[in-house]
Amino acid sequence: MTKTPPKTIVRRTPWPESSTRAIGTPLQPSVVYAAESPDALDDMYEGRAPGYAYAREGHPNADVLARKIDALEGATGGLVFGSGMAAVTAVMQGLLRSGDHVLAGNQLYGRSMRMLSEELPKWGVEADLADPTDAARFAQAIKPNTKLILLEVVSNPTLRVSDVTGIAALARKHGCILVIDNTFTTPRGFQPFQHGADIVIHSVTKLLAGHSDATLGYVACSDAAHRDPIYATAVTLGLTASPFDCWLAERGLYSFELRYDRAEANARALADALAETPGVARVLYPTRPDHPDHNRAASLLGARGGNMVSFEIGGGRAAANALVRAAPDIAFAPTLGDIGTTLSHPATSSHRALTPQARAELGMSEGFFRVSVGVEDVDMLIGEFRAAIAAATGA
Ligand SMILES: *Cc1c(COP(=O)(O)O)cnc(C)c1O
Repeated sequence: MTKTPPKTIVRRTPWPESSTRAIGTPLQPSVVYAAESPDALDDMYEGRAPGYAYAREGHPNADVLARKIDALEGATGGLVFGSGMAAVTAVMQGLLRSGDHVLAGNQLYGRSMRMLSEELPKWGVEADLADPTDAARFAQAIKPNTKLILLEVVSNPTLRVSDVTGIAALARKHGCILVIDNTFTTPRGFQPFQHGADIVIHSVTKLLAGHSDATLGYVACSDAAHRDPIYATAVTLGLTASPFDCWLAERGLYSFELRYDRAEANARALADALAETPGVARVLYPTRPDHPDHNRAASLLGARGGNMVSFEIGGGRAAANALVRAAPDIAFAPTLGDIGTTLSHPATSSHRALTPQARAELGMSEGFFRVSVGVEDVDMLIGEFRAAIAAATGA
């Protein structure tokens, strides 16, 4: 018997037909899309027909995810990128030219700070930082060539609340593009477009995706004149998101509102419990009356204090080591927004590049911890923290 060469297996097999409809979102990892003719491809590229050609330019899973985040942010045409930092890069590279100046908050996410101090100068763009809790400081730092202002609403890890209203008025007055990184606050806690933002950035990696298994970013613009160059730059630089990550993040988003509300309620309860716990020197939570910005938190965030809590114990590094070891079920990991509670120690992670003195000025000793509160049973969580703090401080 002669063997038939298996030539058909290298040709694509049609997807099985079904008279029923899958309710899960399909995952489409294809890099390329075959068009029916050069005319059809031309129609697609000119926007006369929908579709995709090459995944670096866009793919269905990115679009499904982007439309969901658009709905949360009240945006249209948002773009998804391969990480939160890819989103920051796309905005900066897409909009800034040599000779421009950027003004930014002085407690941004660490890598955003490095973008300003190490990357922007390579392209001939200058950056200055100012205290975002004081719009007057921003007004003093603004220059005739200030093109863009970058803000986070609640800072990491001391949870200071920016004067978004004052700085948005300044941006409008001087014709600067106001970019708000809404990662910490999320669209459930704060709606940047309703407070004067021109562009919203997310690290989708964090609370939106919510399960620490996808690295993604998002950008939405209120003005297509900003969106188009950001998109073009991202396609050229290759800041593309993986379809699989988009698929995971979209799956995570179905429970985002439930997760956020539960984590926030837990965070508020944990902050109140820590404030009463012997051995705790200080607790930071934006809506607590003892928070330095609680009035601004009330006006900008209402009751939405978010899922982040910071606290401080005495005893230096030794006590910090003891606390982490005494809470083995709480992941000691420098991230935020996971479904489970994670604990981070800024002095050895996000803020390790600073001198001890610079950290002290920001209010971050060796005993300073930041908690990203998850959706666990809150009494269990409070019990774990109380036990760990008692073990670490002897209080
Ligand atoms: C994590 C984070 C980023 C960067 O996002 P990646 O997805 O890690 O690249 C940017 N801004 C803020 C506020 C973040 O927390």
